[in-house]
Amino acid sequence: MISNEGIYTEFFLNGFKPDPLFKISKWADERRQLPKKSSAEPGQWRTSRFPFAREIMDVLGPHSPIQQIKVKKGTQIGGTEIGNNFLMCYMDIYPCPMLLVMPTESLMKKHRKFKLIPSLELMPNISSKIKRGKTAADIGDADSMEFPGGMLVFGWSNSTAQGRSLSFKVIDLDDIDGFPRDLNGEGSAISVFKKRTDAFPNRKIYLNSTPTVKGRSNIETEYDESDQREYHVVCPECKGLFYFQKDTFIFEYDQETYRLIGNVKACCPECGTLFEEHHKTWMMNESNGAKWIAMNPGHPHAGFNIPSYYSPMLTWNEIFAEFLEAKKKMNTGDVTLMKTWENTRNANVWEENFEKVDEHKFDSRCEEYISEVPEGVLVITAGVDTQDNRLEVEIVGWGKFGESWSIDYLVLDGDPKYPNVWEKLDMHLLDRTYKHESGIELKIMATCIDTGGHRAKYVYSYCKSRFELNIFAIKGDKGINTPTIKGNATRSNIGKIPLFSVGVNSTKDVLHTNLMTESTGAGYMHFPKTDKNSKKFNYDSKYFKQLTAEKRNDDGRWEKFRTRNEAVDCRVYSMAALELLEMIYYPQGMDWDVLEDEFHQKIENELNLIDIEIDIENEEESENYNNWRDKY
Ligand SMILES: [Zn+2]
Repeated sequence: MISNEGIYTEFFLNGFKPDPLFKISKWADERRQLPKKSSAEPGQWRTSRFPFAREIMDVLGPHSPIQQIKVKKGTQIGGTEIGNNFLMCYMDIYPCPMLLVMPTESLMKKHRKFKLIPSLELMPNISSKIKRGKTAADIGDADSMEFPGGMLVFGWSNSTAQGRSLSFKVIDLDDIDGFPRDLNGEGSAISVFKKRTDAFPNRKIYLNSTPTVKGRSNIETEYDESDQREYHVVCPECKGLFYFQKDTFIFEYDQETYRLIGNVKACCPECGTLFEEHHKTWMMNESNGAKWIAMNPGHPHAGFNIPSYYSPMLTWNEIFAEFLEAKKKMNTGDVTLMKTWENTRNANVWEENFEKVDEHKFDSRCEEYISEVPEGVLVITAGVDTQDNRLEVEIVGWGKFGESWSIDYLVLDGDPKYPNVWEKLDMHLLDRTYKHESGIELKIMATCIDTGGHRAKYVYSYCKSRFELNIFAIKGDKGINTPTIKGNATRSNIGKIPLFSVGVNSTKDVLHTNLMTESTGAGYMHFPKTDKNSKKFNYDSKYFKQLTAEKRNDDGRWEKFRTRNEAVDCRVYSMAALELLEMIYYPQGMDWDVLEDEFHQKIENELNLIDIEIDIENEEESENYNNWRDKY
């Protein structure tokens, strides 16, 4: 292991005496070059463009006693470049063993190729010291860069293999909300990497990220364990100090189009004066008195919170135009844009409202459907849960904005080892149609069947010959952030059939939001009222107990707290079937307005046709019907 003493000796031998007061900001202003390829503002780095970055960089320097530096940030504020300045300054004048970790290997490779190497190529005073890679043109290797007095090792958060046996004095953990909270039972990835610095009493650990979900955000946890600095700007009018947050800004907007009217302005909380964007540079200028103030002073770790309002590359108008776009979307029940905005612009965690669903509220909610499939439904899908002695199936109608109608719930008895139960399933999925309120008949457009449990190979063989009929084999993926459909199907199963992975946790998040929706419209779930004496499935308290049988635990995964939960699984698979339809037939995304128009056109065509058919006493099914279905 290289010791600090060795490094200094080497510098003295080379005639360079490191100045302990040579701060990273000063270094960056003199030497850091930003490449054209990957920088919004290429050329010489200027800290004056990012005045808030000066103190962050300077506490990362060797003269500051602070060991852990944590930045909770919005996008476009230069968090990663601050890290690059940090590493490159150390490579240049304070060389030592260093580690840079990004969430994934592909992110690390991209960063190395598009940011690090092009920057170093512009700084021959550093790149000339780095050992060549395979060819003379290569700056370092794929896994590391070696230079006199130190090395920089590249790692990614889901593997601890890189440099496992090495200790590091300097580590840069970038975008840490993408790091696993449990790394193969070794604890959180962050603590595993932090431990690599234990051998160095004067270590430096830089962590940065935009936050994600409350309770699961690594940067939130780290920032809470810090002195929590906020960058205070100066009011040009009363010279009071305040920091930019969402409530600082005021604007008007059109209540229908959600477009901004006029400019967004910052309001001084002291004197109430409003300021246009062009005052921002003056307000942020350190020589006018702008500065970081710790909200939790005395903590040994330095924490910096910096939302995008401070970015020199983004305007307040742009930021709040995005906010309004997200607000508009939120009114349709879709919170995804607002969640992204809160995380990436407001640099804040997203608080999910996961109250327990009260199963009793559904008892009185079942409705009389006029027809088997009510008005509003445009597409029908099905989800099938496989048990050792039966199949459970839910058939769901989908309308605009995620509004849904349960059409039927089936419990088909029989062991899936034997053909009998599959024949029954064919009857419901393929052999019959469902009568829409308009009078036309609808078919199930897509079905997902679970391959979990003990009957996987029988599911494969059923699905194999029915893939073209949109009957898909799926398996659940328990990853917290796995989307409803994870990438493309794999064929590496014993059935050699396309098998799709369904992100059950994120799908259940959506299901939960829908279960909590109390008024009809976006996301609302409708259930039919059935006559207790009929043969039809009864949506009773037993069913709703199942549908509300899961809760989310602290790590973000859904778990059942009642024994029976098949109703949840069937619904999740039905949701997955809708996503698969979209993925396969509408890769640009389903336009539900267009779908609705087509549907009404279809009704018109069909009903005219039925009239003609009656005229000519032809009772055969409409040919047009299948054409319509083929479109999907
Ligand atoms: Zn003021």
